[in-house]
Amino acid sequence: MKLFGSMKVIDNTLHIGGVSSVELVEKYGTPLYVMDEALIRDNCRRYAEAFKIKENNNKVIYAGKAFLTLAMCKIINEEGLNLDVVSGGELYTAYKSGFPMENIYFHGNNKTPEEIEMAINFNIGNFVVDNFYEIDKINELAIKHNKVQKVLLRITPGIEAHTHEYIKTGSIDSKFGFTMLNNKTLSAVKRVIGYSNLELVGLHCHIGSQIFSIEPYLDEVELMLNLIKSIKEETGYTIKELNLGGGFGIYYKEGDEPKKIEDFCSCILEKAKQTSLNLKMDMPTLIIEPGRSMVGNAGITLYTIGSIKNIPNVKKYASINGGMTDNIRPALYQAEYECAIANRVDSYWKEVVSISGKCCESGDILLKDVELPEMYSGDILAVFSTGAYGYSMSNNYNKIPRAAVVSVMDGKSKVMCRRETYEDVISREILD
Ligand SMILES: *Cc1c(COP(=O)(O)O)cnc(C)c1O
Repeated sequence: MKLFGSMKVIDNTLHIGGVSSVELVEKYGTPLYVMDEALIRDNCRRYAEAFKIKENNNKVIYAGKAFLTLAMCKIINEEGLNLDVVSGGELYTAYKSGFPMENIYFHGNNKTPEEIEMAINFNIGNFVVDNFYEIDKINELAIKHNKVQKVLLRITPGIEAHTHEYIKTGSIDSKFGFTMLNNKTLSAVKRVIGYSNLELVGLHCHIGSQIFSIEPYLDEVELMLNLIKSIKEETGYTIKELNLGGGFGIYYKEGDEPKKIEDFCSCILEKAKQTSLNLKMDMPTLIIEPGRSMVGNAGITLYTIGSIKNIPNVKKYASINGGMTDNIRPALYQAEYECAIANRVDSYWKEVVSISGKCCESGDILLKDVELPEMYSGDILAVFSTGAYGYSMSNNYNKIPRAAVVSVMDGKSKVMCRRETYEDVISREILD
């Protein structure tokens, strides 16, 4: 079990942000997402420093899909970072938080005309354009609103990276972006340049998520800088920004060995410098888009243990009052986590149990065969590193209200998002 940021064990009780988890549970109930604000801010600062956003005018864009609330947008803005959104809903969240619209990048492989128009009305900074349909649509709507819209083109570089391995030509088959086959990328560039109401500022690519090795990123840098050079040669057009996407891996469980933020960033910057020197070209503004690595380790989820069931010689199950509604990752892709009994962290005697969620799905098992001290109904289970893709993927299956989110820092807690009520759950339904 690894503790991050401000997490500490005091008197056998887990504390986070200077607040006892037991007190948090008494005050806010469970399930409860708890975000360590100091750790989020520290990650923002480390990325900003390591990727030289002041020194070299590079940019760090937080990928909002990992975890986005009004208060989170405010933190990202206060830390001087940009924001990427992938839907009208995320854009609306940023807008309502007062986030500067010029610092937004709008992603997604099928932005609807309504979303595009909304973004243009909000004067957002950049679209990351995914396909030919979007090039035409954004230009058409930019003409309608008498604007020149800045865009980047999303390229599928044919590099697919998983946690431990990567394939260099394996991901040409992707729903995202322009393929580099058959000169499609060049056709897209030419189409954008030819449109009066679009301004092509950059290229974008994103090669996967929860990636530990640096090599796929270095290959990506090389490939994309070569592409920028060939675009210059073929069209005379200078691409000013190169966005390398996100996907930097984090620690979830033993065996996960992520690189330090500083090392990741310096390797990428150094490779870009060397490659552009070799290619005799000016280095574009470099951009990265971390999501998970900004917030993942900063979050924990607290649950209350309910029923405990022992199937003799088979397995022991302990059930929590949440599950795939607040954390769908184990059911969706066998994600694994570390956990602890928050009100009795250290205990000599441990046993193997599985933690089941309360949804009517036999696949709703949050943790399989983990070692925990003997548990009693009413104990508090803490699951670590749930800050990314937990709340953002939460849902109302079985009409279970969504959990509350609180942030903690310097001994104080604040509600980022209140718990849903049953009234909220049925609020859009109509009884004829
Ligand atoms: C999901 C995503 C990210 C962030 O990925 P993480 O693994 O959370 O760092 C960045 N850019 C794009 C385009 C994405 O789709």
